[in-house]
Amino acid sequence: MSSALTRVAYAYDRLRAYPPEVAGRIATGIANALQARGEEPTLLELGVGTGRIALPLIARGYRYIALDSNPAMLEVFRQKAAGVMRKVRLLLADARDIPLPAEEVHGVIVVHLWHLLPDWPRALAEALRVLKPGGALLEGWDQVEAEAECRLQARWQALVAEEGFSVARGVHRRRLAEVEEALRRLGLRPKTREVVAWREERTPREALEALRERLYSFTQGVPKEVHERAMARLALWAEAEFGDLDRPFPVEKRFFLRVSRLT
Ligand code: SAM
Repeated sequence: MSSALTRVAYAYDRLRAYPPEVAGRIATGIANALQARGEEPTLLELGVGTGRIALPLIARGYRYIALDSNPAMLEVFRQKAAGVMRKVRLLLADARDIPLPAEEVHGVIVVHLWHLLPDWPRALAEALRVLKPGGALLEGWDQVEAEAECRLQARWQALVAEEGFSVARGVHRRRLAEVEEALRRLGLRPKTREVVAWREERTPREALEALRERLYSFTQGVPKEVHERAMARLALWAEAEFGDLDRPFPVEKRFFLRVSRLT
């Protein structure tokens, strides 16, 4: 596995982690949405990443199938789950072609994945195929408000625009609306609720690292050299703008869960 892939997986893990009490509230929200009718529930997560949603659920004893198409993400996940792997199955696979039989799991969890898949209807069809009757599709997402980070991202966007690259923002939110529409067309009744709201701090240096490592999907289509030039200029701009790159700024976060239950 390339060391660059592994570095990005670790950066993802560190910079997107939930505080423990938030992770616990999210796990409780998901657990409450499951109805396993006396059976021991099995959960499948598509695009599990490094496990920030999965691990608290695994710690509560759920059988868990952790699917991801990126071996570096799964490797970090495997290391973090060491010791609680008894009921965990790792699946290196594509969410658009899930190597499981139909009606296999009680819950399918999808957090921050749809926007990465231009052909998301295939993954949605697969998610619904592997759910048991009465099972639940559990889609989750973070909403983040941080004025300082927005300024940094806007500056990065302006710098790549100067080199002729326009970047599409807002795909994540639009995709969630498209998926909801598709679920309703299928006769399902997705219900959304805010599970938890919290405040974190982040430094400009961490925000720069998240951009540099392209942890945001909107940065991923820009050619490497353009991105690197923009990052070099952005670092100078950030020093002038923020002064101390290690002085934290506040970040307001909320996690939403949308539950669609099969009949
Ligand atoms: N759900 C995790 C979370 O919220 O922390 C990870 C979200 S991360 C933005 C997206 C994850 O989806 C990455 O781990 C990536 O490797 C994975 N992924 C992207 N395309 C995929 C696909 N076609 N099939 C399975 N996983 C995919």
